[in-house]
Amino acid sequence: MQPFDYIVPHNFAEASALLMAGNDDTRPLLGGTDLLIRVRGGFIRPERIIDLKQLPGMCDIVRSAEGWLVIGAACTMNQVAGHPLVRQEYELLAQACESVASYQLRNRATVGGNCCNASPAADSAPALYCLEAVMEAYGPSGVRRIPIHEFFTGPRCNALRPGEFLTGIHLPPVPSRSAGAFNKLGRTKIGDISIVSVAVWAEAGSRKLEAGGQSKHPERVDGATRTAADGQSKDAERLTWRIAIGAAGPTPLRAPEAEAALAEDASPEGVARAAQLAAEAARPIDDIRASAAYRRGMVAVLARRGVNSVLARLGAAPSVVGGQP
Ligand SMILES: Cc1cc2nc3c(=O)[nH]c(=O)nc-3n(C[C@H](O)[C@H](O)[C@H](O)COP(=O)(O)OP(=O)(O)OC[C@H]3O[C@@H](n4cnc5c(N)ncnc54)[C@H](O)[C@@H]3O)c2cc1C
Repeated sequence: MQPFDYIVPHNFAEASALLMAGNDDTRPLLGGTDLLIRVRGGFIRPERIIDLKQLPGMCDIVRSAEGWLVIGAACTMNQVAGHPLVRQEYELLAQACESVASYQLRNRATVGGNCCNASPAADSAPALYCLEAVMEAYGPSGVRRIPIHEFFTGPRCNALRPGEFLTGIHLPPVPSRSAGAFNKLGRTKIGDISIVSVAVWAEAGSRKLEAGGQSKHPERVDGATRTAADGQSKDAERLTWRIAIGAAGPTPLRAPEAEAALAEDASPEGVARAAQLAAEAARPIDDIRASAAYRRGMVAVLARRGVNSVLARLGAAPSVVGGQP
């Protein structure tokens, strides 16, 4: 591996200034499971690597005063997947993090690095799309918040500006009556990069969120949310669906037509139709791991599997968890 200077900044301003001064010669580092492999392979030749892990809050998972879950960018996949609040409220994200590579790698690989690397196959991304995460960056003009669907801008490209780096991932509060399912297909059963992945999420009622991370979730009380199950209002009985697809386009994608179709009809026929609409939303390519046609077909399979799993978790359909579509 070519030599480089390894620098640990003392604070956010110093980190930003180092990145700003360095351009492409300077790269931020979290777990290094993407970055160092690219350096070792000679794909990039940075002169300075700025280790951001020790900056305040980067390894913390906390609940904000507004009820959002804030995940520091340097939290590892295992840390996120094992956190009690993630498991209780955002289990979809835990499933996605647990699907990454091996246990050893998940002790090193971070959710922030997974997003900043901006691979279309990043496994945490479809879950974060479904949860409508807001990414927080620090840079020369201070703190900036970016909705997840604007963060991924193309293969290996993200919305960060010169001198900016990711500091955290903010997750809006979710209703207590909600469920998600993450399914991925790799070349091997566990531990492989996704050929395609699909995250599915459903929640009772609808949330109103402001861009920039402010929650307008009036019903949330003491960590619980009144929902259809509590019999609060007719409107809240409606399920809101979100479906996000990984590794089948230049960035992760939402499938809005499929989501709308499910909100109208989640019968077996409706689920089959939504799965087909999800496949039509995909924009896959042929590559070394699979053909575009195979990927598109598997989006339908994984979407149907995910929706049925979510319905079963919500008690809205006969249990089909683990069953074949
Ligand atoms: C054997 C193996 C198996 C893998 N399997 C999977 C898998 O199944 N699923 C999957 O999704 N991924 C997989 N990966 C890819 C990788 O592990 C993940 O993308 C990981 O989450 C990256 O996190 P990291 O902390 O290691 O990032 P790093 O390698 O530290 O950084 C990744 C990129 O983001 C930049 N960066 C880092 N921190 C910041 C920041 N704060 N702000 C801005 N830019 C930043 C870096 O400069 C680099 O370009 C695998 C990798 C290996 C080696």
